[in-house]
Amino acid sequence: MNSDNTVLSSEKEDIAAFRAAIISTLDAIISSIDSDDAFSGINPYELRKRIGELPFLPEHGDGWDNVLESVKTDILPHMLRTWSPSYMPHLHSPALIESIAAELIIAAFNSSMDSWDQGPAATEIEVRTIRELCRLFGYTDDSDGVFTSGGSQSNISAAIIFRDMFIEKLTGRDVKKHGLPDDFYKLRLYTSEISHFSFDKGAHMMGLGYDSVVKLPVDEKERIDIGKAREIIREDYERGLHPFLIAATIGTTDFGSIDDIQQLREIADEFGMFLHADAAYGSGAILSSYRKRIGDLSLADSITVDFHKMFLLPISASALLVRNGKNLDVFQLHADYLNREEDEEDGYINLVGKSMQTTRRFDALKVYISFRMRGEDGYRKIMDTSIGNAAYFYERISRDDDFIAPIEPELSSVVFALRGGDDRNKKTRRRLLSEGVVIGQTVFEGKTMLKFTLLNPALTHEHIDRLIERIKE
Ligand SMILES: *Cc1c(COP(=O)(O)O)cnc(C)c1O
Repeated sequence: MNSDNTVLSSEKEDIAAFRAAIISTLDAIISSIDSDDAFSGINPYELRKRIGELPFLPEHGDGWDNVLESVKTDILPHMLRTWSPSYMPHLHSPALIESIAAELIIAAFNSSMDSWDQGPAATEIEVRTIRELCRLFGYTDDSDGVFTSGGSQSNISAAIIFRDMFIEKLTGRDVKKHGLPDDFYKLRLYTSEISHFSFDKGAHMMGLGYDSVVKLPVDEKERIDIGKAREIIREDYERGLHPFLIAATIGTTDFGSIDDIQQLREIADEFGMFLHADAAYGSGAILSSYRKRIGDLSLADSITVDFHKMFLLPISASALLVRNGKNLDVFQLHADYLNREEDEEDGYINLVGKSMQTTRRFDALKVYISFRMRGEDGYRKIMDTSIGNAAYFYERISRDDDFIAPIEPELSSVVFALRGGDDRNKKTRRRLLSEGVVIGQTVFEGKTMLKFTLLNPALTHEHIDRLIERIKE
């Protein structure tokens, strides 16, 4: 490819350059898949030094062939290989093959989701995908949703929506126009003490501050303790505070524990609150044989679904689903240059009105392509393998005196420790990392723990057995 070819066009030469660029890239990727290790094991100082020595914006461009060669030798070998059976620290998955192809389509067409005229088919596919996802989670046709940049944005969007709606309901004030009321510091959002930190971040951005987020204690299975939750909320309510939202976690980041949505719905109703289900992780179970474990999420006023976790789609892909679609109007604002009101009257849907983003990726295509290609049975196999592997690993180490495993997994994560103290566990993780095996580390009841997050559907019981042996060594 020469630098006279700039953008993809109908010119024969541009098409040939595009084809050559993609094929040489494919070759570079494939030639880098030369081991099953997750990571080269290079230390951070060495890697930083090497990357610091690479050209950045040279006076004269290096040309495609040189750049690709350098990417292949200097960068790709130290990329994390998400598909490796030795990679299991985070809710970070390998990508389904067809969804990588979908990314190519997304980049080639570069659609944007803000207005119909920037992505006609993209808009209609997102609308259809959201409709079907709402049905999958049991919402009626009044529901709606939007794709977001990730679970954090989905959660924060939900918190903004229900803060505004709650204040409107309580005082008639339009927060969008007039900002927060004087006694905004009385607003309270309740979530488990082990929920995701996006609620704290969101509280800061929303002008409420961390103090507005009340962390509810968990029971012996790491779920919100319902009795204590009701007492804490009642006390706050009776003290004149304004409890506005409960955020249930459907699959906590470490344990995969699942809050009881039915009971939290009852508490929310008792105190006139909204209920959000952060199912960034656990939403994948809806397509598994274990879907009952996550409860009836249609009881929640909104649901966060991450497709870049259990669903194995490339980053990023997430959606916020809302039970009453009108609630998304919180983000509606018209601009003469973008989303004219008259457009909507004529059937042109401008999705910018449902999102805090303006320019936005066509991530819905990945969901559409993978759902259609795999079907319910294909996805069920993937989810069941992941959940089944966690059950197998837990079972193995519970019978082994070298290990402690405090909680039986409901999803695909297992938190455990080697007996012998924090140091032994920390050293084990570092040692494995330098050997290309990447596992997780966290803290439970003040003790350092290790963690397996078993999202990779190619992982077998034999892989797990070998890892157990390696850790023991
Ligand atoms: C991963 C996760 C999030 C954050 O999602 P991102 O896509 O990383 O922004 C929120 N909540 C839970 C429970 C998660 O596991």
